[in-house]
Amino acid sequence: MKNRFFVIDVETTGNKIGTDKIIQIGAILIENGEIIEQFASFVNPNMKLSSFIKQFTGIEDEMLSKAPTFDLIAPMLSEMLEDSYFVAHNVPFDIAFLKAEFRKCGAKWRNCPTLDTVELSRLLFPTLNSYKLNQLATELSIEHDQPHRADSDAEATAQLLVNLLIKLKSLPLVTLKKMQSYAASFQSSLKNLLKDIINEKKQLLLTDTEDYDIHRNIALKVQRRQSQIENERLNFDDFETKSIIALLKKVDPKFEVRDGQIEMIETIEEAFKARVHGLLEAGTGTGKTIGYLLPSILHAKKTGKRIVISTYTTHLQEQIMEQEIKILKKALPFSFEATILKGRHHYLCLRKFEEYLETDSDDTYDTIFTKSQILVWLTETSNGDVDEINLSSGGRLFWNKVKSDSSCCSSKECPWFSRCYYRQKRNEAEVSDLIITNHALLLSDMKSDFSLIPAYSELVIDEAHHLDDVASDHLGIKLDYTSIQTLLNQIGLSDGIELLHKIKLATKSMNIGLSSEIDKVEEQYIETKNMIDELFRTIRTYTLAQKQQSKNEIGRITYRFDSSSEEGPLWKSVKSYTFLAIEMLEDIKFNILSIGEKLEAPFGLITDIKSLGKALGDISNGLSKLLFEHESNNVTWVEIEPKGAQNSAFLYCQPIDISELLADRLFAKKESVILTSATLAINDSFQYIKSSLGLLDFEVITKKIASPFSYKDQVQLMLPTDVPEIKDVEQTEFTCEIASKIIEIARVTRGRMLVLFTSYDMLEKTFYNVKAAAGLDGFVLIGQGISSGSRDRLTKSFKQHEQAILFGTSSFWEGIDIPGEDLSCIVIVRLPFSSPDNAIMARKSELMKQEGKNAFMDLFLPQAILRFKQGFGRLIRAKNDRGVVFVLDRRLSTKSYGKKFIYALPPIEIYEEKTDVLLKKLSDWL
Ligand code: SF4
Repeated sequence: MKNRFFVIDVETTGNKIGTDKIIQIGAILIENGEIIEQFASFVNPNMKLSSFIKQFTGIEDEMLSKAPTFDLIAPMLSEMLEDSYFVAHNVPFDIAFLKAEFRKCGAKWRNCPTLDTVELSRLLFPTLNSYKLNQLATELSIEHDQPHRADSDAEATAQLLVNLLIKLKSLPLVTLKKMQSYAASFQSSLKNLLKDIINEKKQLLLTDTEDYDIHRNIALKVQRRQSQIENERLNFDDFETKSIIALLKKVDPKFEVRDGQIEMIETIEEAFKARVHGLLEAGTGTGKTIGYLLPSILHAKKTGKRIVISTYTTHLQEQIMEQEIKILKKALPFSFEATILKGRHHYLCLRKFEEYLETDSDDTYDTIFTKSQILVWLTETSNGDVDEINLSSGGRLFWNKVKSDSSCCSSKECPWFSRCYYRQKRNEAEVSDLIITNHALLLSDMKSDFSLIPAYSELVIDEAHHLDDVASDHLGIKLDYTSIQTLLNQIGLSDGIELLHKIKLATKSMNIGLSSEIDKVEEQYIETKNMIDELFRTIRTYTLAQKQQSKNEIGRITYRFDSSSEEGPLWKSVKSYTFLAIEMLEDIKFNILSIGEKLEAPFGLITDIKSLGKALGDISNGLSKLLFEHESNNVTWVEIEPKGAQNSAFLYCQPIDISELLADRLFAKKESVILTSATLAINDSFQYIKSSLGLLDFEVITKKIASPFSYKDQVQLMLPTDVPEIKDVEQTEFTCEIASKIIEIARVTRGRMLVLFTSYDMLEKTFYNVKAAAGLDGFVLIGQGISSGSRDRLTKSFKQHEQAILFGTSSFWEGIDIPGEDLSCIVIVRLPFSSPDNAIMARKSELMKQEGKNAFMDLFLPQAILRFKQGFGRLIRAKNDRGVVFVLDRRLSTKSYGKKFIYALPPIEIYEEKTDVLLKKLSDWL
């Protein structure tokens, strides 16, 4: 076959093959990397276009009326196709339409090999976020001026193909050869192409050794560690914060020296020096990240100690490294080292990967594709961190098999030890001045006696208001029907495709007689699955039969249970099924592990057996803790989806109070822990956060650093007086009223509005009331749990639309950042009190009452005020932002505690009037 590629794109009247027709064709012929022929034409479909297609493509009926019909174009296309690869961005779509049109007009279709640029981009650019043509074009600097027009799409696809071929040719021989062995499984016809490239490389005597680190037939990126600049002769005591911070302006002209930031730096320096802990509330816009990084780096340099920085998520870890650390590295007059350290399972285990490359005989498309993707990625990555690679959901399942895992690590015996990503990260962290980690790893480290993160004595916890939630979650247990069954399914039947089948094949090939053991596990597998089904059905029935059940924020029915005092025949059944399930899980675990010991199977299979044994043990321990053990510091509850399956139930166990644990295991063991966030204090007091995190018995420096924003000029707080109190009306009436207020406000603000709820149920009802009401034509309504997509996706969609209203609950109170005019109004529907039915809050409140404390004043109110501040904080994210906050909960004015919410905000203008008066003010102000 020639090195000839026929790149095509078609626009159509719709998606139905056979019914819909082609309306535009763009085709390009590439030979030896050069465009040798180009063709573009509209096609007359002899039918009218729908308004959607007109809008989508920009093509009008008049543009098609004089265009040729497909039969006139077909012969020329057939000629171009001869002896070529058929290339398109999503081949199945284009090829199906072309074949149908060829068939209809009786022209001859030439069967030819295909190359799909979506599949190839996923394979060869495995770290990109999106494989849409326009996004790939932006990423690769390809001109693509008219997306969804066949001529422009075909040109962009042709350029993309050229890039893909260059990338393919640049890969090392060992990688290409391995991919060649998988080529038959790809949707694209890569076999001959790979053969040609491999032959060409061989003829040119090109070897991989200079550009790649080839080890055991796998090519890795050569790890070139940057040599550190010698700092030894510098006296770090000579460096003053103020003079250093001024240097930042040189590398970032937008950088401003802010009084609050200096105050923050000086407070942290003082806490480090005095070896005490610190609580620092830094208002939005303080520049808090530089505010804690700079004193941490200086302290590390002065003392020679490493400092740990913990952020809430792995995404925030990356963000700090990409932004603030880069700026500081450029600006500071000395070098420093910072390393991101994530949980071990984030890193690829090269040994497992090598074993799986060789051993899996029953690979699915997803597995083979993911193996190839990882092979390409290994030639580029220095970290081996899963967050870098864009895996499909099937690819994620494969990742679970090859991720680093302490239970299967052979450490120094491992042939990959010197190249192991996890080891390298640990080693880098050892010699770093800063280790940037996340709260989950920080807590795992604490739980495992500080064996995961290299030793440290100073720690900065950013987004510290999340620490207690992450701790409760991390130190608790979660079990549900689906995940237990998914785990059991990994065992499978001996004539299936899962573990038991693989064991059977291994015993056959090794001639080991283990058939009775295998039969036994098969029998136990079926019985255990049935028992888990029975157990969860009974738990669900028991839960639904309870009077004290309630609904949580996301609409699940919840019931708090105490295994020591539940009673009745159903509970007896729950207990006996749990007992049997635990016994069966333990038996199956024992039998599978004993088979594993008798097998001299490949490493991959042994790893699977060991990991499965561990996971089965974790589930049986979890069930025992949840349903048999009673600890006074734990709360246990069950959640069920009202419309879920008969066996669907979620079981939880969490510690109620993590303060003692943090006090004993963290604050008492570290010299200085700085906790910072934009929301820690309540009316200038840090008492609540000190008590909930276990800091009451320690010396703590506290500081509240005001935001540099001028809230008085930037925000107005509006409290409509004509909203009913929820207790005075039916919920239906309340949601109708709320909906009508939202509509009235949205008309003035032209959308750009975030509406915050405290329950999903109310969000949903209000959303549909607003949607059903007349008068919001042209507005886009986006609802959490209603519109599809993650929080980030919904936020992105909100930003993209002119007149959008975003309805959110739970995570929307704090997790979104929308600076500028896109967000000009926040409506707080209810003050964010936790539901008294929330299992943890209910138990905490009972305990407080027993101690003679006032749970409302000491728990519910401070927590609600912090959340209120977080919700309010969504509005002003930059110096020039302006906006309004409406609070539709009358308790802010009618209850004595309402003032506490207002005092917690920065000084702002507050208006309390009927809605129409407020709206008049608003339209004058905006
Ligand atoms: S040292 Fe352990 S984690 Fe690293 S590659 Fe080897 S087995 Fe895997």
